[in-house]
Amino acid sequence: MILILMGPPGAGKGTQSQRLIDKLSIIQISTGDILRKAVSEETELGLKAKKFMSAGNLVPDEVVIGIIEERIQEADCANGFILDGFPRTTEQADSLDNILNKLGKKISYAIYFDVPEKELIVRLLKRSEIESRSDDNLETIKNRLKVFKEKTEPLLEYYRERGVLQFIDGTGKMEEVTSRMNKLFGI
Ligand code: AMP
Repeated sequence: MILILMGPPGAGKGTQSQRLIDKLSIIQISTGDILRKAVSEETELGLKAKKFMSAGNLVPDEVVIGIIEERIQEADCANGFILDGFPRTTEQADSLDNILNKLGKKISYAIYFDVPEKELIVRLLKRSEIESRSDDNLETIKNRLKVFKEKTEPLLEYYRERGVLQFIDGTGKMEEVTSRMNKLFGI
């Protein structure tokens, strides 16, 4: 099974994918986590990505596409995987389609967590107190939401047209969102 988890920053993609990997025995690939690790280890990738991430902008397509292309061909992805935070642009989505086609694989679902902007800002500011992520401050949060609207929201239509979109109400407690999502998989 190949799943894409989509939604604005703070929609709960990371939390929900953690819960799915336990139940579905597949792995999660988070481009945000991979990039944050690279930044903290000051690798070449990290040095390239840092300035985009700290401003709340997207890291260039060719960089993240390269990461995903390599990662999904590793042995632990054979049974399937959850993409958390990728794709975020139409170019990324097209590249993913091409890569999967070459591998003879298909997207099972693109799951979109819908949360109103006001609730997202409250959640992200709360997360900033707990995790101290450098991009969880009000100015950067607002930019990330704007970037999401401009670059990533069009992917809703992209996956709706391909018949794989599943829309989930992402409001309320994380447990409530999890049970809405579990219903989709009959788990
Ligand atoms: P996330 O943890 O998914 O919110 O990602 C944190 C940051 O990493 C984003 O604000 C971007 O700067 C960068 N990033 C993560 N995934 C991508 C992607 N698919 N394309 C471009 N930039 C990304």
